[in-house]
Amino acid sequence: MEHLDTPEGQIRISWYTPATECLGMGKRFAVWVQGCYKCCKNCIAKQLQSTKGGELKSVAELADEIVSLSIDGISISGGEPFLQARELANLLKLVKEKRPELGVITYTGYLYEELKDDEYAKPFLSRIDILVDGAYVEELDDGAPMRGSSNQRVLFLTDRYSNEELPKERKNKIIFEDDYFAMIGIPSESTKRLIKLFSSDKEE
Ligand code: SF4
Repeated sequence: MEHLDTPEGQIRISWYTPATECLGMGKRFAVWVQGCYKCCKNCIAKQLQSTKGGELKSVAELADEIVSLSIDGISISGGEPFLQARELANLLKLVKEKRPELGVITYTGYLYEELKDDEYAKPFLSRIDILVDGAYVEELDDGAPMRGSSNQRVLFLTDRYSNEELPKERKNKIIFEDDYFAMIGIPSESTKRLIKLFSSDKEE
């Protein structure tokens, strides 16, 4: 499968937040990686599709920051995390050496079956507890928690978490800054309407 070419030891990210309760169980560090080759209709993260956008960040520095945080886990979204599977596997390796108790949730547009035998994806998958897989299909968005559309699967890759612990409803938060806005979590219908209002689609 495809892999982004980044300088050694660096990962291309869009942004991250040190702690959120909108992307899984408890308080979690969340990172949105930059770059995605899928073109899901009405993708809510279009600005994260470019493989040239975002910024390069040192994997070691990011790991140091994560291990210093008072959090329950890590959530990885994008963009497409598996385009940078090698870097994310390294990031999780460094983090788990010091904080093995941190559980990991990762969102991908690929199917698990497409990833499980890939040389870069395998070490990354081995450090993930929950994988939410499959491309977003707007027509199948049923408002359920943890995933954007009903074709996507919530796969337990370890026994760290159980079905009973999953959030019962979607949570999301929109952050407005001077020249941009960002959304954390899987959007509800009303949040999607708000995003469309402010998105570049509106300007086209
Ligand atoms: S996989 Fe995610 S980021 Fe990529 S186009 Fe689809 S919804 Fe957007």
